[in-house]
Amino acid sequence: MLGFPTLNVEKFITESLNEAAINNTSPLIHQYARSEGHPRLVQSLSKFFSPKLSRTIDPLSEIVVTVGATEAIYSTVQAFVSPGDKVLLMQPYYDSYPASILLAGGVPVLTSLKPKNLSATSAEDWELDFSELRKILETNKIKMLFLNNPHNPIGKVFKKSELLKIAAFAKEFDFLVVADEVYETLVYSDNSEPFVKFASLPDMFERTITIGSVGKMFGVTGWKIGWCISSPEIIKSIQLVHQFVPFSVTTPIQEAVAICLEKTEKNNFFSSNLNKYENLRDKLFNNLKEVGLSPMLPQGGYFILANTSSVTGFESGDKRGRDYDVCKYLTEKCGVTAIPPAAFYDEKFTGDSERKKTAGYLARFAFCKSRDMLDEANIRLKNYF
Ligand code: PMP
Ligand code: GLN
Repeated sequence: MLGFPTLNVEKFITESLNEAAINNTSPLIHQYARSEGHPRLVQSLSKFFSPKLSRTIDPLSEIVVTVGATEAIYSTVQAFVSPGDKVLLMQPYYDSYPASILLAGGVPVLTSLKPKNLSATSAEDWELDFSELRKILETNKIKMLFLNNPHNPIGKVFKKSELLKIAAFAKEFDFLVVADEVYETLVYSDNSEPFVKFASLPDMFERTITIGSVGKMFGVTGWKIGWCISSPEIIKSIQLVHQFVPFSVTTPIQEAVAICLEKTEKNNFFSSNLNKYENLRDKLFNNLKEVGLSPMLPQGGYFILANTSSVTGFESGDKRGRDYDVCKYLTEKCGVTAIPPAAFYDEKFTGDSERKKTAGYLARFAFCKSRDMLDEANIRLKNYF
C-alpha cells in the first residue's frame, strides 16, 4: 500500500498522451522544451491556477515546470538555502524536505503537528503548537518554512485560521513559505472548512512558492511533471538552479498535461475523481475500523493513519521504533503493507520523543488503490484479526 495509484487511468488522460506524442505533427515536440516550461503547459497552468489564487498568474515569468514536485522542492531549496541557513519543518514531514535541505548545507529546525490523543478519529485533531512555534522563531533565524497542505501522511487540511497564524509569523519573522499543495485536488466533501491556498492569503503571494504535481492531480505518478508558482523574482532564482539540474522537462509529456488540463475545462474530471477517492477513503477507513486498527479520517490526500495499539505478538527490536516492527509483522503475517510513520520524523530523536510516542503507535495506509485490492486487503486483515 505504497503511495501511488493502482487505479485505471481515465481514457482522456491516456488519449492526451497519444495526441501529444503520436498524433502531433510538429517535429519540435521531440526536442528540448523551453527551460522554464513548455508554452502550452504554462498557459494552461496559468488558466487553471489564476482563479484559485485570485490573481492573474503570468505564464512566462511566474511559473517554472519541474521534474515532478520532487525537483520543485530540490530546486527551490537550492535557490534560497545557503550553508547554515535554518529551515522550519513540521513533523511528520515528507522525506524529501530534510534531504534537500541537507544537500544544500541547510539546517532543519523541527516542530511537530500533534494529535489531541492517539485515539483521535480525524486528521483534523492534529494541531500545531503555535506558542512553541513562536518560541522557535524568536530564538532561530528561519529562512524558509515548509507547509504541506493537504498533508502526507496525516491527511490534515489546515484551517484558514491556522494558515493566517502562519502567514502572520511569515511577515513578523520574514521567512519564505514553501506551500506543497500536491494533493489540493483531493480535499474531501465532508470537511468542516474549504481548502485555502496559502499564496491566496493577503500579502503571501510574494513570499510563497506554491508546488504542485501532475502525478497527484491526474493519478499518473510516472509522468513526473511538477511546478513552482511564485513572484517573477522568486521564479527567476529557482530557474537559475533548474536550468542546471534537468535544464528542461520532457516536451511530449508537458504537451500531454496541457491537453489534459484543457480537457478538464469541459469534462468534470476533478469532481468525479474526488468522488472516486472519497469512496475509496471511506472503504479503507471502515475496513480498518472493523478490524480494530483505529483509523483517523483524512480530510485530504490518499493516506490514512491508523492506531496499531491492538497489534500484539510481533517481535520487537527495531531501533527505529515500534511502528517498524508492527509494519514488518503485518506484511509478513497478513500480506498487507503499511508505512511506518517514524520515517517522517527526525531519526536523531530518542527517548520520550514525538517519534517514539506518536509514530510508534501508528501506521500509514494508502487508499489510492483499486476496490479489488482494498477488498483483498480487508480479507487478509480479517483473517488475521
Ligand atoms: N510532496 C508530497 C507531500 C508528496 O507526497 C509527493 C509524492 N509522494 C511529492 C511531494 C513528490 O511528488 P512528485 O511525484 O511529483 O515528485
Ligand atoms: N509520495 C509517495 C509516498 O509518500 C512516495 C514517492 C516517493 O517516495 N518519492 O508514498
